[in-house]
Amino acid sequence: MPHSAVWYPYCQMQNLTEPPEVISGKGAWIHLKDGSRLLDATSAWWCLIHGYRHPDLDAALHRQIDQLSHVMLGGLTHQPALQLAEKLVGITPAPLTRVFFSDSGSVGVEVAIKMAVQYQKQQGQAERTHILAVKQAYHGDTSGCMAVCDPEEGMHQLFKGWLMEHPFTAAPRAGFDALPDDPLLQQDLQILQQSFEQHHQQLAAFIVEPLLQAAGGFNMYSPLWLQEVRRLCDHYGILLILDEVATGFGRTGKLFACEHAAICPDILVLSKGLTGGYLGLAATLATEKVFEGFYGGPAQAFMHGPTFMGNPLACSVALASIEVFERDHYLQRIAMMQQQLQQALDDFQAPGVVATRTLGATGVIEVDHADRLKGMNQWARAQGVWLRPFGRYAYTMPCYVISDEELLTITRTMKKFFTIQ
Ligand SMILES: *Cc1c(COP(=O)(O)O)cnc(C)c1O
Repeated sequence: MPHSAVWYPYCQMQNLTEPPEVISGKGAWIHLKDGSRLLDATSAWWCLIHGYRHPDLDAALHRQIDQLSHVMLGGLTHQPALQLAEKLVGITPAPLTRVFFSDSGSVGVEVAIKMAVQYQKQQGQAERTHILAVKQAYHGDTSGCMAVCDPEEGMHQLFKGWLMEHPFTAAPRAGFDALPDDPLLQQDLQILQQSFEQHHQQLAAFIVEPLLQAAGGFNMYSPLWLQEVRRLCDHYGILLILDEVATGFGRTGKLFACEHAAICPDILVLSKGLTGGYLGLAATLATEKVFEGFYGGPAQAFMHGPTFMGNPLACSVALASIEVFERDHYLQRIAMMQQQLQQALDDFQAPGVVATRTLGATGVIEVDHADRLKGMNQWARAQGVWLRPFGRYAYTMPCYVISDEELLTITRTMKKFFTIQ
């Protein structure tokens, strides 16, 4: 049992010893109090895309803190929020024109769901109160988000019956490279069409993580499936919410994962990489069509407004993050990381390993049983690498400033664990 008063996430506190204390970091490295360093394979839950202590992001925050740390966005505005909203509209697919700020990925998703349901109501479609979600999805830990996360997976099952009950469709099984006539893809599409047919009358929106279902099991699927989702949403008058909290800002090899399928959602949620992982911030973007659905009297207004929405520090560091991303040609770097990950993981075989997958700056080793990965975190730590597998997945989603040698150290460490068993 830890001695501190901190209640740590996703773990049994009874068996936990106090985790190692971090005092600093630089690039892909975490610096610990005992003087040792750890190479971070996770970019701090996938958000620290520029690594630790990036000079340009640090400088942006120093500048902003001398100007304005916070002010409410209710009845007032400020340049960092105005500029970031304009920038996000500029870099996301063209139909997205409006930006609603909040403070975390979960809240960004809550905002998207509320927006979709209220939109439908104001279109005279009050019976459209449900969301069609996808199995193996992860959309966050708050109640509205939990209700659209995989319904069987252990994390939120405890709350079944208390949460809003939404319909689910099967997770797509055809991989990223599936050809149009792939029988698995054909089956996936058929199941999808049936789900829409069965539930469309009650649906306000469809929600999915595009191309990469991340925390729900690193399922990398075909852009053709996502194109069919877009077509079906249009056909039945259902809004499409894309949760790019994990996939946004280059993680799948494009700036936004929906670009792989050349489609645009009605509502897009961004968070994790948005501030380069420096501060909590989310952006829920909407098309002009959705935005205009809130025109009318006070009762038609969107009633949401987190205290810290559009925080100036967070917006400033987000602007700096996007600037560095563009200036330093991160998409080229990510393409090289993808090649390196493929080379390292594609043909990897070991007892218990059932699959390996790579997409953009994401590499995954899937095993047959979670027990196989027991002790991996601790063992890797002794090798100087911070790996944090969960469930049946050992993965890396590193920062984009990582060197080839550092990335090689990560994939070597991931693989070596299976040879010492
Ligand atoms: C992490 C994540 C969330 C939740 O974001 P928080 O900032 O942790 O609330 C939502 N959706 C996806 C796809 C995520 O990966």
